[in-house]
This record gives sequence, structure tokens and C-alpha cells, in this order.
Amino acid sequence: MPLTIAIDGPVGAGKSTISDVVANRLGILHLDTGAMYRAVGLYMLDNGIDPQDQDTVSSLCEGGRVLVDVRYENGSQRTLVNGEDISGRIRAQEVGQAASCVSRYPAVRRMLVRRQQEMAKDQPMLLDGRDIGTVVLKDATVKIYLTASPESRARRRMLQLREKGDTTPYEEILAEVNARDYQDTHRETDPLRRAEDAVLVDSSDLTFDETVSAILSLVEAKK
Ligand code: C5P
Repeated sequence: MPLTIAIDGPVGAGKSTISDVVANRLGILHLDTGAMYRAVGLYMLDNGIDPQDQDTVSSLCEGGRVLVDVRYENGSQRTLVNGEDISGRIRAQEVGQAASCVSRYPAVRRMLVRRQQEMAKDQPMLLDGRDIGTVVLKDATVKIYLTASPESRARRRMLQLREKGDTTPYEEILAEVNARDYQDTHRETDPLRRAEDAVLVDSSDLTFDETVSAILSLVEAKK
């Protein structure tokens, strides 16, 4: 079985960036599964479909009308919907909200989980998301639950926003982090939780490089 690394954790824990660096150091591909949920959310927005309309969203996904795929260009992920590369548009805030909404529907999850499992079947891969260690790759070689306190995640988010000139107050960012945590851990289908065999990495008091090193050491120990 190829090497598989599952990294789950709440919003703002730095999963995506850290996963990118770890996968790069190991010379394996990184699949950001959140991008796939964002792709479904974006498709609904583009086609005037209310993401809250579970029946319509589910039947489009079940009927094969929304095909999400991932390709790699020079090792970096491109996300496609029905053949169109939408990678540049999925980071918008409204797309995140739509993703968060459609990710609650079993039909959407079934479709994307199947695709993620297929991709990790015959090549070494690192997947990051919310349900990788608990659902997608229950037998992953290494499982990590990457987290940090809500306060330090909100502080990091605030610094990122300030760099872009965004002055949203800290309290508002912290409230958003707490709301997303609640939504991710309380949804009915595949809620975010730490797999029993996942190693907890709390990055609250670690630098970026220290977090990467901690994860690489865990991988080395398991390989
Ligand atoms: O990680 P990211 O913010 O890009 O994820 C977008 C949305 O997709 C989140 O709201 C999250 O709950 C959902 N998601 C999920 N399962 C995953 C990855 C992301 O439900 N494996």
C-alpha cells in the first residue's frame, strides 16, 4: 500500500500551507480536499442554485452533473468542475460559505470521498481536510490532528487579513473561528473529530517551521 498521510483539523490551523510544505519535502502529492467542497459550492453559485437547497444540490451531484476533478501542474493542485479549471476562484469568502453549506449533504460527501479514495489508491499522497483520518483513509499510514487554540488561530487569521489591508476587528474574527468550529464539529454527516489513532499536534506555541518538523518526524517514525 502506498504511503498515505491524513491531516485533519479545524479552520485556521494552517493545514493547507503546512501540508503543502510537508508533501513537498517528502516528494509526494498534496490533495487539499477543502478545494473540492469549494468547487461544488462555486458551481452552485455560478448556476444560480441556492446552496441551502439540499434536494437540488444532491440530485445534481448524484446525477453526475457536477464532476469535480483534480490535476497537478508542476506538483501543485488544480481543481476542475466539469472540465473547467476554477482554482483561481475558490478562495472567495462566499465560496467558503457555500462550501461549508454543501459539505453537510451526504450525496456531496459520497461523491467527493469516492474521488479522494480513488486518487490515494495507487500513489503516495498527503490529504488534508476534516474527515480524512476518520472516513476517507481509515487505514492511513500516518494520521495527524493539527490544531491550535481558537485565539491563536484567530490571531494568525488577523495577521493574514491585515497584510491585505483588511481591518476586521479581532473579536469578530475570533467569533467567526468559533462559529466555524461549532458548525464543523456538530454537523450530522462526518463531523470533524480526531480519529482515535491520530496524533495530536497543537501548533499554538509552535512556529511554522517547528510544526512542519514535528509532522515530518512523526512521518519518519512511521515509515
Ligand atoms: O478547508 P476549507 O476551508 O477549504 O474547506 C471548505 C469547507 O469544506 C469547510 O467548510 C469544511 O467544513 C468543508 N470540508 C469538509 N470536509 C473536508 C474538507 C473540507 O467538510 N474533508
